[in-house]
Amino acid sequence: MTAPLIIGEIMQNTYPNYYKKFSCIADKCPDTCCAGWEIVIDPESLSKYEALGGEYAEKIRSLITVDGDGDSIFSPENNRCPFLLDSGLCEMYIELGHNSLCRTCRLFPRHVTYFGARTETGLSLSCPEAARIIMESPEPIYFETEETHADIMPTAIDPSLYFTLIETRKTAINILQNRKFPIEKRIISFLALSEEIQHLIRKNRLSETKTICTKDFLAGQYEIGPHSDKKRVLAKYFGDFKSLEMLDESWKTRLDKAEKTLTVKFPDCEWEYEHLMIYFVFRYMTAAVFDGDLLAKAKFAAVSYIIISRLQAENIADKSARISAMQKYSKEVEHSQLNMDKIFSLIKKSRFYSTDNLINILSQKEN
Ligand code: SF4
Repeated sequence: MTAPLIIGEIMQNTYPNYYKKFSCIADKCPDTCCAGWEIVIDPESLSKYEALGGEYAEKIRSLITVDGDGDSIFSPENNRCPFLLDSGLCEMYIELGHNSLCRTCRLFPRHVTYFGARTETGLSLSCPEAARIIMESPEPIYFETEETHADIMPTAIDPSLYFTLIETRKTAINILQNRKFPIEKRIISFLALSEEIQHLIRKNRLSETKTICTKDFLAGQYEIGPHSDKKRVLAKYFGDFKSLEMLDESWKTRLDKAEKTLTVKFPDCEWEYEHLMIYFVFRYMTAAVFDGDLLAKAKFAAVSYIIISRLQAENIADKSARISAMQKYSKEVEHSQLNMDKIFSLIKKSRFYSTDNLINILSQKEN
């Protein structure tokens, strides 16, 4: 059940510099977002469809059903949205225009997180066009904030934790964009930073955030504590990802292959990993304001890098294949709440996802 939106309030919105470049490529899309998953209809759209007059409105209403969780959805046909035409276009969009779409379809691939009167919006890597745009330019990604009138989802947040997370995120971005160091070293330093800030969060010592954020994490050598054998850890990670709900059965085969491969260093694509990490950091880090678990978000970003870099190894010289591996990962993992809940639960509970195990894998050249 979602909270009701407050319509047309003044708010600050922060977004990555590539955000406004997105436009759906519809029938030219190699992997439509209108198949493979359920579209839950938000209450406002549902009321709109119930009140809509005309012949086409009858068709819309006839295609609405209720799923096992009690959510109203459009009844899928052969695992596809019933409005998706063979041409790859959306019939509802053609008949009634963009504003007729439900909130999920109007927004996707844009994601929004509400922090009181602030929002953060980005593009999801699970859309091939968004992934292409995110990975288009080697220039470091930056963020813009603008004041705007928009719809606010009311959320109660702890301001001191929120500003701690904002400061930590700035430091994390500086670390991850420092190109004097290899990407693995940057991710290790990012994990070390997150571990120290998580300690402050646990001990309720947020006033010490600045001291931690001014430390030079990249200059130091992380002392790896007790850890498990690298092969066992990787087998556990791949086993966990293979146990997730799958949209596409070929995903398992890709994970099987990736598990057996060594990561391959390919010149000139470190900035893509940097953009990938910035994507995860921007999307998830400040959301720790809702559960206080910053370290789990950092570990998710690190384990995602570990899996994705192995998924790419087979076709490492081909940029579109590298981007496709990131997009598939995002679609399979990030776009299933069930999968995200399972992975985060494993990250929080299993010793295999300890910072030391992650750093041990990242710190070895021959992975
Ligand atoms: S996945 Fe992206 S580009 Fe493809 S149809 Fe959906 S929004 Fe458009």
